[in-house]
Amino acid sequence: MAEGSEKIEEVFADVDSSEKGLTEEQVRERLDKYGMNELKETKKTTTKDVFVRQFKNFIIWVLIAAAFLSLLVEEVINFWVIMVITFIVVMLGFFQEYRAEKAMESLQKIVQPETTVVREGKPRNIKTKEIVPGDILVLESGDKISGDAVVFESVALRVDESALTGESHPVGKGKSEKIFAGTQVVHGKCRAVVVNTGMDTKLGQIAGLIQVKSEDTPLQKKIANLSRSLAILALVASLFTLVLGLVEGAPLEEMLLIAIALAVGAVPEGLPLTMTLTLAFGMRQMAHHKAIIRKMLAVETLGSTDIICTDKTGTLTRNEMTVEKIFVNENIIEVTGSGYAPKGEFLKDEQQFDVKQDPTVERLLQAIALCNNSSLEKRGDEWDVVGDPTEIALTVAAAKADFWKDDLEDSQPRTEEVTFTSERKQMTTVHEREGSLISFTKGAPETVLDGCDRMEISGESVSLNDEKRKHIMDKNMEFASSAYRVLGIAYREDPDMSSEDAIEQNMVFLGLVAMIDPPREEVKEAVSTSHKAGIKVVMITGDNQETAKAIGASIGLFDHRAECGIPAHVNVADEEKVRRIMEDCAVTGQELDELDDEEFEVLADHINIYARTMPEQKLRIVKTLQKNGHIVAMTGDGVNDAPALKKADIGIAMGIKGTDVSKESSVMVLQDDNFATIVEAVKRGRAIYDNIEKFTTYLISRNFTEVILILLGITLLGFELIPLLALQILFINMFSEIMPSIGLGLDPPEKGVMDRAPRDPKESILNRRNLVMMVSNAVVMASAAFLVFISSNPAENTQLARTLTFATVVSMILFVPFAFRSLEKSIFSRGFFTNRVMLGGVVVSFLLTLSAMYIPFLSEVFELVPLSLQQWLLPLGVAFCTMLAIEGVKAVTRGVK
Ligand code: ATP
Repeated sequence: MAEGSEKIEEVFADVDSSEKGLTEEQVRERLDKYGMNELKETKKTTTKDVFVRQFKNFIIWVLIAAAFLSLLVEEVINFWVIMVITFIVVMLGFFQEYRAEKAMESLQKIVQPETTVVREGKPRNIKTKEIVPGDILVLESGDKISGDAVVFESVALRVDESALTGESHPVGKGKSEKIFAGTQVVHGKCRAVVVNTGMDTKLGQIAGLIQVKSEDTPLQKKIANLSRSLAILALVASLFTLVLGLVEGAPLEEMLLIAIALAVGAVPEGLPLTMTLTLAFGMRQMAHHKAIIRKMLAVETLGSTDIICTDKTGTLTRNEMTVEKIFVNENIIEVTGSGYAPKGEFLKDEQQFDVKQDPTVERLLQAIALCNNSSLEKRGDEWDVVGDPTEIALTVAAAKADFWKDDLEDSQPRTEEVTFTSERKQMTTVHEREGSLISFTKGAPETVLDGCDRMEISGESVSLNDEKRKHIMDKNMEFASSAYRVLGIAYREDPDMSSEDAIEQNMVFLGLVAMIDPPREEVKEAVSTSHKAGIKVVMITGDNQETAKAIGASIGLFDHRAECGIPAHVNVADEEKVRRIMEDCAVTGQELDELDDEEFEVLADHINIYARTMPEQKLRIVKTLQKNGHIVAMTGDGVNDAPALKKADIGIAMGIKGTDVSKESSVMVLQDDNFATIVEAVKRGRAIYDNIEKFTTYLISRNFTEVILILLGITLLGFELIPLLALQILFINMFSEIMPSIGLGLDPPEKGVMDRAPRDPKESILNRRNLVMMVSNAVVMASAAFLVFISSNPAENTQLARTLTFATVVSMILFVPFAFRSLEKSIFSRGFFTNRVMLGGVVVSFLLTLSAMYIPFLSEVFELVPLSLQQWLLPLGVAFCTMLAIEGVKAVTRGVK
């Protein structure tokens, strides 16, 4: 016996189970006894890690240095206030990051994996964590194995055990062999009985070694670098001022205070914090709209995506298939009824048709019931289905004629299965019937027809000549161009069992089954939104070219005419071939193989549909599009999609029908498998990027304001009369800037976000427009505040003049952040009450600032005096004018990038 193999009867006895699985009662008992099938939380980022991480922030060290310098010049109050504020910055950063971390964890949990098991003799989809020892796992290619189990039935099973053994080559597994939690089925299928779950599995024993790492995104890194550079700049500027002051003979103590004020003023304390918060909140919003982000990186890349390559079945269409037509005996039979309830009639020439009258129709219906792995079961008033929708449709159609798989299998038990794969495009089961074998095959009509040399008409087997083949393929075409998904059905008595290929040869053709899978309602609008947003939508499907084109046309895929069809200048060697292939923007997998890399590069931008493709071809498509400079989002669900999902800029897996492998290879998971969700995520991604631009530009311009203000003071009024003290600046930075910028970070999407082209990924946050906006705003705000300072007679009453300057800078938050809600359009484009976080933030910040003026203890510390209502008019008026000036700057810079 091979290592790890066990006697299957003993295994069943050990876990007190059978091929029919456990009863609900047994499951309950075992859940109590063994607990959930979960790994105990392994070593992940701890609270302490998050706390310690805060001190990696250079800004914190600048602040601490400033505090100790204050101590050096015996400014004890300064020391304490800066320390308290530093502590608040650390704690805010800590809580935000901690929350972001938790949000990320809980998002991961939304994608709760499910597994098919057999319980009480029936297949059921259950949450993976509810698996108990004794459960029967039903595994297919792409499934993750979630408990240690022993195989008792397998078809061409191959398992990737690299997660446990590091061995990347998949290993074959047969009956009685053990498979392990954490590994994946990459080929074939099997049934296996679970022997261990949770921490008792082999994976559980080494769980401590497995860790998920969360990495900062390029944008987060850029922002972190930017704040570091600004902090360094602040240090240099303040050192320079310090030296200058000392050279000019100013007292050291005073100069140190000024230097501290400058450093503190220029350091953007709120920047990394707001960034984390914006991304975390954005992810939550996307999750709310059913797009689960697995890697933060996706949030920013989404904004630059200019091509979405999407599957058809289930993503563009509903994946609720219903058989409507059967082409058999060279005639069409209509099937009525919709949904999963097996209620409907068979009509021929609009007359009711008794299917049991005709042996060929009967055989075809038996074939679609038997060559099938789905199940249909009545639970109360509802029909419960498990399996692939194509197969469910067939099961339901057969049941409408009272052919039930379980009953049929009693008399014709299945002995063999040649599994369906997207590459083979067909599936066969072999059954034993009255001592001999019979096989049933279903699949893509051309593939099935290829393996047939005869056909059956009303019970009689006739030769399948060219004319008959053509007639069948014409019908296939006719169905397909009406958007039907078509399957060919065949059978063979006494199949040649010498090889899988041989089984599917010399078959007898029975007929075609046409099923409808209507497009999702919301998809047409989503496609049109994508086109308006400069995003091309490309359909990649395993289905027939005509079906794909019909669905494509109905959802407006070709409305993007400019880029579809034969390019004006085809600079390729074989122009005739290219013209043939490119006739209608739809290219088949076979045609794609005819194109060499160079030709494909020229044409890739002009193709809207890839039909009858192999999953491997997706990788070629992504690579070529990326080579052509596109940022590509690509959906996928199967194991073989994994390389393309990894390669794409945004790999998107399907939450419902996606395999575990595809989910693990992607950065985003669609909870509802819906194309429209991708478009919504792109919209949110764009909005998040916009918001990052907004708060970065705003925050930095605010920091510059303070620096410019102080430099103006020093240069024009000398060292004694600086317009704001270090503590005042720190207070403004802390309490009046962070909240409005968080408001900007969480701003709802602007109206036209999906009416403009995708962002160039190389473009920097501080592009020309934003730089101009930032610098001019800083100059406007600083000059306005300085004017207030000098007009308030600072030489006579410095404290009052500083208070008025302080009040002016603070009042600006009542107006200026609103102007930053659009860096392009006017303040009126956004409405004044559409961002409540910002409104609330502004009010709270303003009140907090007032407290520094009106609470006696605080006003003493901050060296401020309470202002009268009348005195407030000046700061408020000036702040309002600043906002107008900023609007002016925007009007001038509009359109600059
Ligand atoms: P998409 O790639 O958009 O999801 P698809 O579901 O049609 O499209 P595949 O699942 O690769 O792609 O199927 C390819 C073809 O194989 C189908 O067009 C159909 O003819 C055939 N087919 C699909 N499912 C089965 C099945 N369960 N048994 C036999 N043949 C099938």
